[in-house]
Amino acid sequence: MPATPASRPVRTRFAPSPTGYLHIGGARTALFSWAYARRHGGAFILRIEDTDVARSTPAALQAILDGMRWLGLAHDEGPFYQMQRMERYKDVIRQMLAAGTAYPCYMAAEELDRLREEQRARGEKPRYDGRWRPEAGKILPPPPEGVQPVVRFRNPTTGVVAWDDLVKGRIEIGNAELDDFIIARADGTPTYNFCVVVDDWDMGITHVIRGDDHVNNTPRQINVLQALGAEVPLYAHLSMILGDDGTKLSKRHGAVSVMQYFDDGYLPEAVINYLARLGWSHGDAEVFSRQQFVEWFDLDHITPSAAQFNTEKLNWLNAQYLKKADDAFLAAEVANRLARREVDPETGVSLEAVVALYKDRVANLNELADAVELFVAEVHPAPEVIGQHLTEPARAALASLRRRLAEVAWDKAALAQAIKDTMAEHSLKMPQVAIPLRVAVLGVAQTPAIDAVLEVLGRERVLARLDRHL
Ligand code: GLU
Repeated sequence: MPATPASRPVRTRFAPSPTGYLHIGGARTALFSWAYARRHGGAFILRIEDTDVARSTPAALQAILDGMRWLGLAHDEGPFYQMQRMERYKDVIRQMLAAGTAYPCYMAAEELDRLREEQRARGEKPRYDGRWRPEAGKILPPPPEGVQPVVRFRNPTTGVVAWDDLVKGRIEIGNAELDDFIIARADGTPTYNFCVVVDDWDMGITHVIRGDDHVNNTPRQINVLQALGAEVPLYAHLSMILGDDGTKLSKRHGAVSVMQYFDDGYLPEAVINYLARLGWSHGDAEVFSRQQFVEWFDLDHITPSAAQFNTEKLNWLNAQYLKKADDAFLAAEVANRLARREVDPETGVSLEAVVALYKDRVANLNELADAVELFVAEVHPAPEVIGQHLTEPARAALASLRRRLAEVAWDKAALAQAIKDTMAEHSLKMPQVAIPLRVAVLGVAQTPAIDAVLEVLGRERVLARLDRHL
């Protein structure tokens, strides 16, 4: 018995076309292919399907590579570029012509159009009628002068092509439904479905995990693989992802490019966790690490129905990951974001201390960077905020607090005591001192505990910021 894909070491691939950014659906396909290979100690291959020269761009390729890197989906082999494999495809076409599993077809495009027209008029499905297909006892006309033929695959005419889809279950298509599709154009370039077949074969792919927009290509691809004597991989076709509103996910739904999530301040681990649950489940587990996902991932628990994107859930997960994240890691992420805003993060304020104060209060890294910016950059409270909070009695209290802060030991307990003493002196309640103080030192009325904020800001900065308002 020949080895079956299921008994060979697992080899999966992600095969994006560089015609656009890496979108959420593509990222989920990549994640599942990656995780399946990791889970089984196999290899994950990156293949760039760049044969659509008119629509492929270097920028899109870069966006895909950036997205994969940001998500931490490292490939073991590749990237392989289809455009660099043209000679190999042409070789296989020559072999198939020699073996009779493919044949030249000289039918002109206008002739084919006319045929389709007639078929439609008769209420038939338009399809190539096999007129150049060699058959025993059939006499083909001599090839017309000066016409470069296309090459067609000699599809079986009887029986069915069937596979047990690992997500959708058994799928069977009658061969009579399929016509002899073109594998090489008149200029000799191989067609999309053919390149995929040769690649999956050459790369020894055992499990093809891809979007179900390709399910119609699968019967043709299987037939060609069989004609080549190649082992047919197992297929898992992932259902599509719907937007929050139940319609097909598209640009309208906002952030559909993976790198947009980076820009919007999501942590890659949160996005990975979110994508993992998009159409796959492990009991009712919602928050789990990448490692845990790899240990659990299987193809049996992928739902065949469409998965619906839920921005609120992603935001919730992101907040969970922010809370748990290491302060030094968050500080570095925030420093990068501040640098991109041309804010110098190196001011003597400990970024680690600031992120520790805020990481359970923010939804994303941009909000965290906004908070840190209040500590490291000049703050300019809006005039109406100043008018509302820095009233005469508030200023008087801040002036006496300032005298205390100039001398107090710089720790939370002493700072809290200085605020209490000021409240007592001026017969004010906590918010009557704390809110003007927040506005004066950070420019906003709401902050984490004010004694902790003062401690992190440092004496020099606090006094200087108070002085600006006194
Ligand atoms: N290049 C195809 C796409 O980007 C994927 C093909 C495949 O996975 O077989 O949709």
